[in-house]
Amino acid sequence: MKRIAIFPGSFDPITIGHVDILQRALPLFEKIVVAIGTNSQKKYFFSLEERLSLIEKVFENEPKIEVQTYSGLTANFATKIGAGFLLRGVRNATDFEFEKTIAQLNKELEQNLETILLVCKPKYSHISSTIVREILIHKGKAEKFLPKAIQTYIVEKM
Ligand code: ADP
Repeated sequence: MKRIAIFPGSFDPITIGHVDILQRALPLFEKIVVAIGTNSQKKYFFSLEERLSLIEKVFENEPKIEVQTYSGLTANFATKIGAGFLLRGVRNATDFEFEKTIAQLNKELEQNLETILLVCKPKYSHISSTIVREILIHKGKAEKFLPKAIQTYIVEKM
């Protein structure tokens, strides 16, 4: 069976922290599906179409990375697309506690799905999509937290 991983998240927007996790995970898998979760109860800053096309732009030269959207349970979506691994990034103890619970839950839901947690590099541990959105809303300089390929789009949009 092919080693396929799913990297689920909101990616509102994708940051250099996400990109680093994905690049480090690339040698481990044959394919990584970046899966943008859609939750009708949640309000997003960037539309689903924007988030999708921003991630596609960042990885346009990386054939092992695919971008898809999904709704419902992540474990169900992983099974549907034949992914055996669920990739997540961990920045700190709060992330770890959260990820541990979700990983244990997903294991109960889907025994064939293994969660792989990659610990982020110290230089990315303060970066989050929430912080980036906050900076953008207040017209601050968010470029340094964003992948090069999408900096212009986001700055011009603001
Ligand atoms: P969610 O809304 O599900 O937390 P995010 O888009 O915020 O989705 O994050 C997706 C994944 O990327 C999560 O595993 C998150 O911990 C990880 N992540 C986010 N920012 C960073 C970062 N700076 N370094 C490493 N991993 C990160």
